Amino acid sequence: MTEVANPLQVARLLDGRALAAQIRSELTASICQRQAAGLPQPGLAVILVGDDPASQVYVQHKIRACAEIGVQSFCHRLPADTCQADLLALIRQLNADAVVHGILLQLPLPAGLDGRALLQEIAPHKDVDGFHPQNLGLLAAGLPDLRPCTPKGCMRLLDYAGVDCRGQQALVIGASAIVGRPMALELLRAEATVTIAHKATRDLPALVAQADILVVATGVPGLIKGEWIKPGAVVMDVGINRLADGRLVGDVDFAGASQRAAWISPVPGGVGPMTIACLLENTLQAIDQAVAHRPGTAAHR
Ligand code: NAD
Repeated sequence: MTEVANPLQVARLLDGRALAAQIRSELTASICQRQAAGLPQPGLAVILVGDDPASQVYVQHKIRACAEIGVQSFCHRLPADTCQADLLALIRQLNADAVVHGILLQLPLPAGLDGRALLQEIAPHKDVDGFHPQNLGLLAAGLPDLRPCTPKGCMRLLDYAGVDCRGQQALVIGASAIVGRPMALELLRAEATVTIAHKATRDLPALVAQADILVVATGVPGLIKGEWIKPGAVVMDVGINRLADGRLVGDVDFAGASQRAAWISPVPGGVGPMTIACLLENTLQAIDQAVAHRPGTAAHR
């Protein structure tokens, strides 16, 4: 029997802005307690290379979010012609710096720089983005440590909606190393039955029609049509696309999908704020790792 969408149904919003605010206030309280106990202030180093306008905005948001909750930020803005060796030297210096607990290399990097090689140089215990192969490998092994922020934020949104992933059909569209792949691993860990689609996938509408949980991270505005969505599905739109008229939109036809989904994340105000909240949370987690990796401790040896 074909399921028919109810034209009056309007999905409930996965309000990332509200949930992120709640997480930030919990983190603020935790930092206050730490400081009252004489523990060091968490420190996050952000490396921004070049003048990509979107990256400038993202970095500003991250630095503001740090200041609001009491994380000290150290922003290293470098010109677009910075060479690989200088960036490597900076990362090594930050790895050794005791007041820096987390290191974030803002992507994408200008042409000519090898981002993958640089990410591998960040000490895994300071890798608050969770992109180091060691952290991705631990997630793949089902033993997560520092987890990539956007997929972690999506899992928090699922918890918030009270979604039990166990046995659900989950479809992740997009297979990048920073969003799609770790997202699929997170859903697998939560015991969903996971399918990953990408640009070579055939018959996307048929896959979408079966998905109880749909995560879309392609960077293609409006790729997913409302009529493809399974009635009652949970839809998380990771895409952030700036249209020619200045509007920010996701990868999902929000109006159409809202008529069929049970839950949907808006763009902006859905996954984006959760990514930053999880970055802050990872920075606090990293400060505990820093203690374990201090020279002279067993973990360091
Ligand atoms: P990417 O370009 O690295 O990867 C895109 C993926 O989408 C690839 O796996 C590709 O195969 C797939 N894809 C592209 N076109 C497709 C199509 N027509 N059908 C099916 N799959 C297709 O991108 P990314 O870094 O993973 O980012 C994806 C989007 O998410 C972008 O819009 C980015 O701005 C956004 N993003 C948002 C956040 C956030 O916090 N909300 C964080 C990271 C990325």
